[in-house]
Amino acid sequence: MARLTKSAATQEVTLDSKAPSGPIEERWDHRRFELKLVNPTNKRKYRIIMVGSGLAGGSAAASLSELGYNVDVFCYQDSPRRAHSIAAQGGINAAKNYRNDGDSIFRLFYDTVKGGDFRSRESNVYRLAQVSVDIIDQCVAQGVPFAREYGGLLDTRSFGGAQVSRTFYARGQTGQQLLLGAYQALERQIAAGTVKMHTRHEMLDLVVVDGRARGIVTRDMVTGEIETHMADAVVLGSGGYGNVFYLSTNAMGCNATAIWRAHKKGALFGNPCFTQIHPTCIPVTGDHQSKLTLMSESLRNDGRVWVPKKMGDNRPPHQIPEEERDYFLERKYPSFGNLVPRDVASRNAKEVCDQGRGVGPGGRGVYLDFADAINRLGKSVIRERYGNLFDMYSRITGENPYEVPMRIYPAVHYTMGGLWVDYQLMSTIPGLFVIGEANFSDHGANRLGASALMQGLADGYFILPYTIGDFLATVGANPLSPAEVPEAQEAEAGVRAQIDRLLSLKGKRTVDDIHRDLGHVMWDYCGMARSDAGLRKALDRIPELRQEFWQGVTVPGVNESLNQSLEKAGRVADFLELAELMCIDALHRTESCGGHFREESQTPDGEALRDDVHFSYVAAWEYTGNLADPRLHKEPLSFEYVHPTQRSYK
Ligand SMILES: Cc1cc2nc3c(=O)[nH]c(=O)nc-3n(C[C@H](O)[C@H](O)[C@H](O)COP(=O)(O)OP(=O)(O)OC[C@H]3O[C@@H](n4cnc5c(N)ncnc54)[C@H](O)[C@@H]3O)c2cc1C
Repeated sequence: MARLTKSAATQEVTLDSKAPSGPIEERWDHRRFELKLVNPTNKRKYRIIMVGSGLAGGSAAASLSELGYNVDVFCYQDSPRRAHSIAAQGGINAAKNYRNDGDSIFRLFYDTVKGGDFRSRESNVYRLAQVSVDIIDQCVAQGVPFAREYGGLLDTRSFGGAQVSRTFYARGQTGQQLLLGAYQALERQIAAGTVKMHTRHEMLDLVVVDGRARGIVTRDMVTGEIETHMADAVVLGSGGYGNVFYLSTNAMGCNATAIWRAHKKGALFGNPCFTQIHPTCIPVTGDHQSKLTLMSESLRNDGRVWVPKKMGDNRPPHQIPEEERDYFLERKYPSFGNLVPRDVASRNAKEVCDQGRGVGPGGRGVYLDFADAINRLGKSVIRERYGNLFDMYSRITGENPYEVPMRIYPAVHYTMGGLWVDYQLMSTIPGLFVIGEANFSDHGANRLGASALMQGLADGYFILPYTIGDFLATVGANPLSPAEVPEAQEAEAGVRAQIDRLLSLKGKRTVDDIHRDLGHVMWDYCGMARSDAGLRKALDRIPELRQEFWQGVTVPGVNESLNQSLEKAGRVADFLELAELMCIDALHRTESCGGHFREESQTPDGEALRDDVHFSYVAAWEYTGNLADPRLHKEPLSFEYVHPTQRSYK
């Protein structure tokens, strides 16, 4: 265990975010003016690689090629439309103030910095709030069918951590509709010939030439062909890594490979331990499950969260009278009630279940009850607002949520951590940009609901198109072919060697088996509650699991055809390494912040206790070649506009 204290304390380096100074509302305008431009006729001389075609990658690729750049887009699905963004349900935030309820850019900025528990960069968050209003206009112009009010204005609803109604939505399918908008913009460019779409291609390494990102190595997932693609810049919009926990609300394919392999090539990893645990998921029912299902946070607009007051009360919910119910969020947080942020709602649900007041099999659930809302508004209004979510719940659980309360429990949902990027969205490898959930930025230690779609589209439509131009104008167009670059051949050889090694594994266990074990370790010790002793146990167990993987699993099939076992094995090999970094990061951060409750750091009434004196920074980790001994770099955070306080939603 010397590894932590030694490396974290003695080798740390300070990072420069390159964020502008001056009045916060003018920073992005000033920076945009300072950025170098690429002449319109020169743009076609540049090639950009985009890994990912979700909301971040799809919107960025469409915008960049519309500007005139040549873009190669890669995704592992058979269509960009299947990116995990399609799963997003509840909505997207924007400071439009259509409701006239007191919203503003400053308020969205304020709520996001506070919601992130003062662990995000103010300049970025302000810019995010500023461009949020443009996103809605852009999407409406594309034809995204947002819900509308009777008078025709776009409708909004409330999400956690805000007292205004600023979440735009399309029933419970907001991600799908936004993705269709971005996809159509992308298809237009594919038809125009400026985007080349490489579906079913998985990036397996980054090519770095003279310290600059110049390409990627991919595997064609249908033929097994290994190829190197070169470009003037590489962008990763490859999504989050919540599946390191095995069970999460993420799509089964979500993985960390693109960012993890870039990390091993020199990109620092920011706040890897910051994971979001979402309070409203369908509870785990056993070891047979391979994924969990989210019930959108929007349901907390009308659903009331409660458990029985008495421990072990297993009467059916309708037999428990009002006075014997504990609406614990309304009781403890009267100002925000059921709409407290996700971290607060999740922690409280865990607490009442730990007290033995949980409901359903195993006592790991709380009720989300719509009876009051149905009485007040009628079934048809509730069906109109949440119909598809209610149908999904009843198909999965066999219970009718119009008649009995839903049962929900927290589950892993989103990763705030990711590759560290500066204000220009560039990683510590020049020419490697990172957007959307794949980067660490904007959400601090806790993301507010409906802010991921906002960030992905802000990065893709409105920020990267400016900042990447500055980089390209500085370096100039310089096409390279893989054959003339030894670094490309080395990267390709490394990828082939790992595939051969994986296919030579003829042990007795399946990859899923080890992944499930890893998930248990991560959930138990690096989940909602963490402690020094628990994290040290995890740090002992993870290298053992890695050894069990490399000695004991079997990977059937061959490289030269569709081989999902091989794909999965490569991704789990990366999770087994990333998990160690997450635990090292969690161990070094001895404060509670966001959803990360450090048992040793709590207020007398059991709330999370931050330690601003020692931890007001982004922890960005460098790969040193030794997984147990990464080097810590710190980006100090300063708060000029939203002053850190103990967060209160009471
Ligand atoms: C169930 C659910 C509901 C949600 N609801 C909301 C909501 O209502 N509001 C909100 O704001 N947020 C929501 N979120 C979060 C939000 O959906 C995601 O954070 C966001 O969509 C991520 O977008 P992205 O473009 O960064 O990544 P993704 O959509 O995950 O796209 C990643 C892309 O990268 C590609 N890729 C990844 N690795 C590789 C590789 N190695 N090689 C090639 N391609 C690769 C994939 O093929 C894909 O195209 C929800 C999340 C979940 C799980």
